[in-house]
Amino acid sequence: MGCFLSSSSSAVNHDPEREVYADNEKGSSEIAPELERRSGAAGLLDMGFEYRPIPCEKHTDNFGSSRSDRSAAICYECATRLFHVESGTMITDDAVRKKYISDGSAFDDVSRVCQELAQDRVRRELSLKFVTLCDGGKGPVRALVDDDWDVVSDRRPIFLFITGRGKSRAGVVSVREVLVSGIERGSALFHLREAKRRGFSVACLDPNALGENGGMAALERSLTALFRPGRDNAPIYVLAHSAAGGFLVRYLVLGATRGRILPNLRAVAFTDSTHRLPWAREDPALFSFLQSPRCLYVRNDTARESSGGTGGPGEVVRSDVWWRSRFGELRTVWAGTASHSAMCWVAREIIWNFFDQHIS
Ligand SMILES: [Zn+2]
Repeated sequence: MGCFLSSSSSAVNHDPEREVYADNEKGSSEIAPELERRSGAAGLLDMGFEYRPIPCEKHTDNFGSSRSDRSAAICYECATRLFHVESGTMITDDAVRKKYISDGSAFDDVSRVCQELAQDRVRRELSLKFVTLCDGGKGPVRALVDDDWDVVSDRRPIFLFITGRGKSRAGVVSVREVLVSGIERGSALFHLREAKRRGFSVACLDPNALGENGGMAALERSLTALFRPGRDNAPIYVLAHSAAGGFLVRYLVLGATRGRILPNLRAVAFTDSTHRLPWAREDPALFSFLQSPRCLYVRNDTARESSGGTGGPGEVVRSDVWWRSRFGELRTVWAGTASHSAMCWVAREIIWNFFDQHIS
């Protein structure tokens, strides 16, 4: 198997032109069986849905009545939300979603297109491109990186956004959120924009490229391909969501380019990470790093709510013996939401206040 970097301008990781609706009877009743599957917004419309920009209170007046004025959201409280076209219903939560998009193949079809639209928005708005980091076996492992990623070999800091395990792909935090909360909240848009604002180069990795049980392999190949010699001294900042935290720490224990990455890690924000400190027991530098001020664990509020405990967003979690045996002295704060899928969005200011403390 050869690992390499190759560019691809395609926003999607399959060829929509060649697919047809094989499973039409299980999908929306709107779809004609002979219809070729269209991609992007047209494909979504074929299924009876579309994204519409919904202004926040502050920007309601800025939204003109003509469609072209309303083509993009204005701030991050403004949102691009999914609508069921025929009924004019905005998809606002899982119950509404299930009413219009049932679990199973309908959900798979709609969520796949919604995710592609979210990736496309991220790619266009941040001037990113897809690169293939490794090809072979179960398919290509790709990443979303800066347009000029392969020609830059300077000391520009790097921001890595790593998606957790599940359906979400590069640049997307949660497919569920893309459907029920909109493209801004379900994608990494906010975090990537903040990184770019600070002059970072950015890369969104895709641990789900090799399927459900291929997360570690996909991340391993991604990091090894990305950190070839050439950017040896670039400071690295990471936001690792959920299982990505486990993959990252395992890579830092065993991965081929761990020696290049660990000394340059300036800050790592873990959101509900699955790692365990004892994995690093044999590696004093990593063991110490994972408990240092350069790491932050953002924990969803479920445990606090179920125990009736206190602590607002960003407040330090008083860890118990079990937590300390798993994560050591890792600084842990409450996210401000009990929703695992929403926490990268809800805790966005906590996360960037933390990164800012470590920007030199
Ligand atoms: Zn707004």
